[in-house]
This record gives sequence, C-alpha cells and structure tokens, in this order.
Amino acid sequence: MIGEFDLIDEYFSSRCTDRQDVVLGIGDDAALVQMTSGDQLVIAMDTLSVGTHFPENMPARALGYRSLAVNLSDLAAMGAEPLWCTLALSLPTTDRAWLDDFSAGFFQLARQYGVALVGGDTVRAPLAVTVTVHGRIEPGSAILRSGARVGDGIYVTGYPGDAVAGRKILGESGQSGGSDLPGLVDRFLYPQPRVSEGRALTGIASSMIDLSDGLHADLVKLMSASGAGATLDASQLPVSKSLVSWAGSGEAVSLALTGGDDYELCFTVPPDRQQEFAELSGDWQCGVARIGTVTDGGKVDWQLDGQHLSILESGYDHFQQEDGCDQTVQV
Ligand code: ADP
Ligand code: MG
Repeated sequence: MIGEFDLIDEYFSSRCTDRQDVVLGIGDDAALVQMTSGDQLVIAMDTLSVGTHFPENMPARALGYRSLAVNLSDLAAMGAEPLWCTLALSLPTTDRAWLDDFSAGFFQLARQYGVALVGGDTVRAPLAVTVTVHGRIEPGSAILRSGARVGDGIYVTGYPGDAVAGRKILGESGQSGGSDLPGLVDRFLYPQPRVSEGRALTGIASSMIDLSDGLHADLVKLMSASGAGATLDASQLPVSKSLVSWAGSGEAVSLALTGGDDYELCFTVPPDRQQEFAELSGDWQCGVARIGTVTDGGKVDWQLDGQHLSILESGYDHFQQEDGCDQTVQV
C-alpha cells in the first residue's frame, strides 16, 4: 500500500512531460499555465468507468493509455492542438505494479503528443478514470459538427469495426487469449488518436466528429447537427483483412457500421477543397476513404450493391441499451 501523496509524486508528478508554458504544475491548489493571447481554449473530458467502458481486469497500461487517447481524439475532432491535461483517479486499492503500468500507458501517449499533466485528484472508490484535456486553436478554425453542406464528400480514417472485434475477443476476461488476429485487440486497447490528421483538416473539412459510438450512430449525429442527410456506399467502407477473417465479410460490415470504440475521424470535405484534401491526405499512414455524399433531408442512407441497409439500432445510448455491440445490420 502507498499513501495518496507518495502515490501522486511517484507515479504522476515525477513522470510528467515538461512544457515551457506550464508555470506551475502538480503540487499546489491549482495549476497555472501561460496562455498565448488570441488563441481559443478547447476543452474536453471523458470518464472511463469499470464495467461500463472497460472490463474489470483490463490491462492497467491500456487503461492509462486509453483514458488520455479518448480525450485527445475529441480534441482531434475539433482540429485542435492538445497542450495540458488533468487526471481524476478513483482507485479501490493502491497496487504499485498496477500504478506503474497505468502511468506508463498514460505517459506514453502524453509524451507522444507533448501534453503535460498539470493536476488531478486521487480518491479511494471503485475504479474509474476521468481525464480533462485542454488545447488551443486559432479563432474561427475549430471544425464543428454543424458545418456539413449538401454535396460535400464524407470520409472516414482507419478501419472502423476493428476495435469492437478486439473488445469482443478480449471479452469479459480482459485477456486476449489465443484467438487474436493482427491488430484487433490492440485497436481496442491502444486506439491511436488522429491528432495530426485532425489539425491538418482545419480550413479544409466542413464538419467533423470522432467515432466513439459507432460509425452510423456518429454519422447520424454529424448530419443532424448540420441539418443534412447522407447517402453512403457500404462497399467503400475500409474493412480490414483481420476483421473480415475474424467475422466474415457480411458481419465485418455490420461491425464497421455499428461497433463503436473506433476513435477514428469522420468528416466532410466541400467539392472545392477536395483537390487540396487529396494532396494533404495522400501520405496518411492511418488510411482514409470516401464513403458517401451529404444530401438534403434528414436521412442517413446506406446502400450495398444497390440495396438499402437498415440499421436496426441507431447507436450506443447509455440510458437505453445495455450494449452497443449488439446492433446488427440487415439488407
Ligand atoms: P487539493 O486538496 O488542494 O485539491 P490534493 O491534495 O487533492 O489538492 O492534490 C495535491 C496536488 O496533486 C494538486 O496539485 C493536484 O492537482 C495533484 N493531483 C492529485 N491527484 C493527482 C493525479 N491523479 N494526477 C495528477 N495530479 C494529481
Ligand atoms: Mg487545495
């Protein structure tokens, strides 16, 4: 067992990323950071709660990583540059090996993006992690959900569906077992927030959202915020080879549409920006695909081989459904 203040010192303050604009980090009643005048502050927060967002024995390193990743993904979806974060940690016990792994995962990502942990809170309670991230953006440059217009192309990064397959493989046990295919469990445990891609889309994308509840459900949010609809071609969905061999090609499409936990970016690009976008995205390692076009009217309509797909459940809703993974797609 380790006391609260030694814990904070040993596993968090001594491992922090340095930033010159952090005037005062962990240790006082509040943190002080130096703002650049003229910038807008972009703020996002997400909680991961045991049983709801991750299985009980999820590897601690993955939990530390993921708690920051999902927040960086929200900033990426605004086109913002992440700067500082805070961490609220509810722990049932203080296990040194667990804390070591948790902070290793957290700081792996914090270092990768140069984000400084400037404060937090530590309490004894059932396991839950809340991270708040602060970032910056030039005024007027944030990419909102509401900016899509009729005729814009609709794009998605990466391979939606891989993460939910990983989550299913991991199952309740939190162990990957022997049945993993390359990448699937890792895509759930270690989602790569698309921070540089999101930044690069400022001035190009007309609207953007990051995928947490499933591609279809998040597209419905994007289009409804924009007062628009969409037609989408499911045959253009980027579906990974691993997902197809694990789930079969029909089920792979269903998982890609409804799975959730992807933390990819879904965005729209106006016709007069498409050339610029093609040049910019040509060397994106994560991959990107055009999957449809913004239409008028409120419907988000998926087609496959000339037939309409009906999505039985329209998204992961914490207060209506037990499990967003149970959605299925019917032709
Ligand atoms: P207070 O009682 O004034 O809120 P605390 O004693 O809770 O302060 O925390 C002491 C310092 O440690 C503060 O700077 C706080 O932001 C920081 N802190 C507490 N828990 C964490 C954590 N899990 N990660 C990072 N900083 C933390
Ligand atoms: Mg205080």
